[in-house]
Amino acid sequence: MSPLLDVEDLSVRFNLGEGGLLRKTRGTIHAVSDVSLHLERGECLGLVGESGSGKSTLGRAILQMTRPSDGRVYLDGHELTKLPERQLRPYRRRMQMVFQDPMDAMNPRMTVEQVIVEPLRLQGIGDRRDRRARAAELMETMGLPVSGLQRYPGQFSGGQRQRIAIARALAPQPDLLVLDEPTSGLDVSMQARILNLLADIRQSLGLSYVFISHDLGAVGYLAQRIAVLYLGRVVELAPARTLLAAPRHPYTASLLEALPRLDRKAEDDYAPARGEPPSPVNPPSGCAFHPRCPAAQAVCANERPALSAAGSTHRVACHFPLAQESAA
Ligand code: SF4
Ligand code: MG
Repeated sequence: MSPLLDVEDLSVRFNLGEGGLLRKTRGTIHAVSDVSLHLERGECLGLVGESGSGKSTLGRAILQMTRPSDGRVYLDGHELTKLPERQLRPYRRRMQMVFQDPMDAMNPRMTVEQVIVEPLRLQGIGDRRDRRARAAELMETMGLPVSGLQRYPGQFSGGQRQRIAIARALAPQPDLLVLDEPTSGLDVSMQARILNLLADIRQSLGLSYVFISHDLGAVGYLAQRIAVLYLGRVVELAPARTLLAAPRHPYTASLLEALPRLDRKAEDDYAPARGEPPSPVNPPSGCAFHPRCPAAQAVCANERPALSAAGSTHRVACHFPLAQESAA
């Protein structure tokens, strides 16, 4: 059986200077470059990286919300990237996205019921009564009062709004959810509640997730496998446990070191990646991480390391990957 999702050599480029505000700036933004990934049914794959790493663009390109410049995306073996918009429609229902700020994706003048049933209405699924019943059922699934259906999103807290957004994404009974920083705007206890809820829903509904976050801790909680993105490329891909316990890429190690840990003493604080991520308009030569990498050597500035196997389930793009034992 083919995986639920298969992504092959996916690239997304944006040209600057094609009119609009950026007319004076010239160049091409290489937002996503040559990404290959797959997702099994029922699996959660984490996509981790700093802001500007291309993770949101990759999520949108998987869903064909942004059409990729190159490469292929297959859902259940069907190639989405070659389909015109009309023929994509039946697949769109099966893939839904949850955004970081749910208010951005909600019309504040719609009631919660209207918000939740909107994807059903747009796709012509069910009649009004069916859609009402579905909205009520989803409110219960999300632990929200059914009486809230006639209120407006602005009358709910941030965490409740995110649950409403998840309810809407679930309304058309998708197979795949792309969750883009779904907990980033929330306080820590609400983040934990949403993550637990997402974990429960995935199990009970047999869903698959692509979970996008800059927070390796949150991703480690939910994902079975993690792909680390740096400047639009996958630099490390491994089962979550392995990646968190023994990262092989220096960039992943720096992300892990930046996580707050209770057991760390001040004196063994490791400097997280130095400086700001470079621009995706003029990415550094060779390994794009070389200007910030504590392990960089001369070859790193000249030759881009390929993503290659480091064990049966682990892939890393580095000329000098960290040793398995010392990284643990
Ligand atoms: Fe660092 Fe070189 Fe590995 Fe890039 S290839 S991560 S610069 S050691
Ligand atoms: Mg983003």
